[in-house]
Amino acid sequence: MPGTATAQVAANLTAVRDRIAAAARGAGRDPADVCLVAVSKTHGADRARAALLAGHRMFGENRVQEAQQKWPPLREVFPALELRLIGPLQTNKAAEAVALFDVIETVDRPKLAVALAREMDRQGRRPACLIQVNTGEEPQKAGVSPDEADGFIAHCRDDLGLPVVGLMCIPPAADEPAPHFALLREIARRTGLSTLSMGMSGDFDVAVALGATHVRVGTAIFGARPPLVAK
Ligand SMILES: *Cc1c(COP(=O)(O)O)cnc(C)c1O
Repeated sequence: MPGTATAQVAANLTAVRDRIAAAARGAGRDPADVCLVAVSKTHGADRARAALLAGHRMFGENRVQEAQQKWPPLREVFPALELRLIGPLQTNKAAEAVALFDVIETVDRPKLAVALAREMDRQGRRPACLIQVNTGEEPQKAGVSPDEADGFIAHCRDDLGLPVVGLMCIPPAADEPAPHFALLREIARRTGLSTLSMGMSGDFDVAVALGATHVRVGTAIFGARPPLVAK
């Protein structure tokens, strides 16, 4: 990756952090209460390294296999980094996910929750978990429906003993995001959860105003993603 591209990632990180801080202050919040998850999915390790060299340490990936290839070598050089899974997780990848990620943001069904609990016991490693809520109730989208969220959260925490710390959502692309963020915040409030992962490049200011503790930003940091190549 040429030096100018590295400098661009650093400049983008600064610009995004400034916008987060402005949105937080505008909502009467402490900017330090909002974490930036840099979404490096589909980008090569060189781009992730550029962000690491700029001092960034929190990253999101949405495929287990891609993260397994990209991150272990980076972690040898930057052991303090935090890796978060933000994409759908297949039950048969639960072991790999527990071994690699520090946070799993996409717990969304009983079968997966059971597999994660079993793997955590087996490996003695307990990544924090977020429950993904399908706030728009889109049939094609992952996540537990808002109606079922409270029961599923209780099942994960109380029956399975998963370390559930919060909620995550991806609003429908065509909708105004604010009502979705407000709904996620309300579910977190009534279930006593403190972490709210919501907001992406196009709407993180809105999410911060509505209480996001984690925003997941890819394009605004790393630029447009390379098109997916069919395998
Ligand atoms: C890709 C992705 C993001 C980042 O999206 P941008 O629009 O590039 O900021 C955030 N969250 C999830 C779950 C994603 O898959």
